[in-house]
Amino acid sequence: MATETTIALPVLGEPTQAAIIGPENGRTVYVETYGCQMNVSDSEIVMGVLHANGYRPVDSADDADVILLNTCAIRDNAEKKIHDRLDALKWQKRHNRDLVVGVLGCMAERLRTSLLEKKLVDIVVGPDEYRKVPELVETALSGSKGIAVKLSRVETYDDIQPLRTEGISAWMSIMRGCDKFCTFCVVPFTRGRERSRALQSVVDEAKQLWDAGFREVTLLGQNVNSYRDDVSGYDFADLLAATARAVPQMRIRYTTSHPQDMSDKLIDTMAEHDNICKYIHLPIQSGSNRVLQLMNRTYTVEHYMQRMERIRAAMPLVAMSTDIIAGFCTETEDDHQRTLDVMRAVRYDGAYMFAYSPRENTKAWKMGDDVPDEVKSRRLQEIVDLQQTIAAEINATEVGRIHDVLVEGPSKRNASEWRGRSDTNKTVIFPHDETADYIVGDTIRTRITRSTSATLFGERVTT
Ligand code: SF4
Repeated sequence: MATETTIALPVLGEPTQAAIIGPENGRTVYVETYGCQMNVSDSEIVMGVLHANGYRPVDSADDADVILLNTCAIRDNAEKKIHDRLDALKWQKRHNRDLVVGVLGCMAERLRTSLLEKKLVDIVVGPDEYRKVPELVETALSGSKGIAVKLSRVETYDDIQPLRTEGISAWMSIMRGCDKFCTFCVVPFTRGRERSRALQSVVDEAKQLWDAGFREVTLLGQNVNSYRDDVSGYDFADLLAATARAVPQMRIRYTTSHPQDMSDKLIDTMAEHDNICKYIHLPIQSGSNRVLQLMNRTYTVEHYMQRMERIRAAMPLVAMSTDIIAGFCTETEDDHQRTLDVMRAVRYDGAYMFAYSPRENTKAWKMGDDVPDEVKSRRLQEIVDLQQTIAAEINATEVGRIHDVLVEGPSKRNASEWRGRSDTNKTVIFPHDETADYIVGDTIRTRITRSTSATLFGERVTT
């Protein structure tokens, strides 16, 4: 059992598995992650901090002394899931009085002390206060509830070593917060103002990841392409180029971008470096300028399309995906048709499509949720159907094409097949047997032989 209670922090530069600073305290911790990749990365940071304080991570809530739910608040049903999960944990708490239950992330930041009113919940910690988790867990173990939800203008966990699950693909958050204030979005309120890590710390971590066996890294931010190293003045394109040069064999990806910050410099930097993957996730949200204005998206459809032309001129084989919201406040049938028109014009390889979910305290909340649910669902279905048709048509044109595929392992469906991902972020399934001379993490050439709207199927090309 730990004697001293000093809070230790795993320092960047140590081996990927955070070295334990204090003695193992014999307590186990389980983190359950909901929502976006940013939360996946944050859970690795929380685990890194706890591991450095002697906590042992476990893979099941049943084996844990401490259960932490890292939550999402982007839509109503995301929060409902957490309330249901907490109800389900009541049984475990009744059978283990010492169990510590904590709520982390965007829902913690949005709902704050109201979560502590739940008998079950011991600690509530917002996205900028994860250094305090060990101390709050200690307080909870001595019977007092704890909360830490202050938003920071400087916190980037730059010096923290995340505890990553072994693998070939890593997430790395390079900036935090968002200054865009889209009227439907809670992120600026749950994650605060934008701040970026130092360029050198990102490049150093990418090198460490390569040495640790990772073969791909995705640079993360709510608004990743508005990254700026305030000390050196380097922008996102500079960071991308520096990272690509520092680990030339490693695949570099990034998400999520904002059309406003999709500069020519960024586009040209992507085109110049082979190891920067030719895939861009560029949310459009709506195809109607009137709705984009109500959303405060700060661009027009014309501006967005001009960016698309510029991207495809520089990288003709680039794959594109987007986010679309159906049924935003006052959306008319004509606005909806304009969204379908943009989808037909851009022809996305993939999309994340949602019905508008009003969020309290956002500007859109005051606009009123006036599009009836059945209209929202019908419009969403039309968007989903169109996207599926387009994706199937695009993937059909991939037949005969050769892709460099990063091998990820056995396919989920068929033991005699393995899967991997193309540079354009498409899943590729290919035959595999024990004579294969490649391993997970290798890149192999495959010729695409058939496709569906979601998956490519291919065969290995050895010559
Ligand atoms: S850019 Fe808009 S949608 Fe994206 S996180 Fe920021 S406020 Fe939310």
